[in-house]
Amino acid sequence: MSTYQVIAKKFRPKKFSEVFEQEAIVQTIKNAIRLNKVGHAYLFCGTRGTGKTTLARLFSKALNCEKLEEGEPCNSCPSCLEITSGHSLDVIEIDGASNRGIDDIRQLNETVGYAPSKGGYKVYIIDEVHMLTKEAFNALLKTLEEPPSHVIFFFATTEPHKVLPTILSRCQRFDLHRITAEKIEAKLSSIVKALDVSVEKGALELIASHAEGSLRDAESLLDQLLCYEEPPITRDHAIKNLGLISTDLFFKLDKAVKERDFSAPFTLSETIYQSGCHLQHFLESLANHFRTIAMTQMGESPPDAAYHEAAKCYTKHHTLAILDYLIDAMEKGQKTPFKRIHLEIILLHIVRGSQNIPIESLVERLENLKGEKKTPLPPTLEAAPPPPSSSAPEKEEEPVEEVPFFPKTPSKTPLPTVNIEQKIKHDQVMRFASVELNGSLRDRF
Ligand SMILES: [Zn+2]
Repeated sequence: MSTYQVIAKKFRPKKFSEVFEQEAIVQTIKNAIRLNKVGHAYLFCGTRGTGKTTLARLFSKALNCEKLEEGEPCNSCPSCLEITSGHSLDVIEIDGASNRGIDDIRQLNETVGYAPSKGGYKVYIIDEVHMLTKEAFNALLKTLEEPPSHVIFFFATTEPHKVLPTILSRCQRFDLHRITAEKIEAKLSSIVKALDVSVEKGALELIASHAEGSLRDAESLLDQLLCYEEPPITRDHAIKNLGLISTDLFFKLDKAVKERDFSAPFTLSETIYQSGCHLQHFLESLANHFRTIAMTQMGESPPDAAYHEAAKCYTKHHTLAILDYLIDAMEKGQKTPFKRIHLEIILLHIVRGSQNIPIESLVERLENLKGEKKTPLPPTLEAAPPPPSSSAPEKEEEPVEEVPFFPKTPSKTPLPTVNIEQKIKHDQVMRFASVELNGSLRDRF
């Protein structure tokens, strides 16, 4: 019986041309080999599943290949075959997470002096290098300072800021970027074609967006899905089996906001709870939903036409307030033991939030209110300047003379007390309003 190979391994690039989405790095590596300008240490940084160790292995292959063809390893010479199978004596892979102590690095330092078994280079690939202890880093530094000419180090890390600066300064650094959901989907589609299985586009789309830029994550999810279901595999299969969330659920929430349906948050949270979806994952997906709505409101074209309708359920202020709120809710969600109640409150808050009045519009209303009271000037207080019947233009100049704060002579005309009272009143209303903002003030003004 032949052993099953997982998709990530089966479709791992065997040539530089097959490396996905890291063209600039591939070009630099190829040029370094072609021009014989290979350094002694390289650092590959990037999020998980973007191809750090794949690139390091391909680089090692190309360095030791006997029949290099236009910078590409041949994959058929004994050296290439050994590296592919993981049995090469010249390419040593070390997991920095489990071999992180000074003794492990000392052991490594002792073998560095030995010449490679087949000529060429002796390559050390240290994965998760940031996990090494400080002492181990220092021990490694010694070798990095004066490495034998046949030795090359490849370090891979997801957290380059944890690598000692003295190590960083001795490496050529490559930053691998995340892979876009569209590219991942395209890759998955080509894998599905090669495997000759029928998987609906919607299912691949969902997996790609869930993988968050990691091709390996996407490939693992596809693997999992192919094991669960018999083809043809649909989008619903992906939702059900991978614990993913359908966007339909978010659109139902939008509808509830539009219709001010306060019972919907409870039925929706029940559905989410029963699906076994992780709260944090749900909140991330929800935030992503509102991000798409915000983008749609700003005039960007959304990935799904249904977002045009969804965007109408919220004002721009409302969308931004929800996004702000969700970021806080995600933080709280990690700590609270009452996940279900937390979820219900979040959904209720979103539905209820549609009744809130944004602070900007509140301030505008208050300003208008103030303006309205100003125009008919002294509406209540008769103590205001006496209105003599003649010479109307002279009246306007009078207040200018009142400007000095301490009048020299006992005031003939009363001070403009009306404005101070109005100001105090206005300030008080503003203070209350800022406290009461979360409530509905619609009927009060
Ligand atoms: Zn070869």
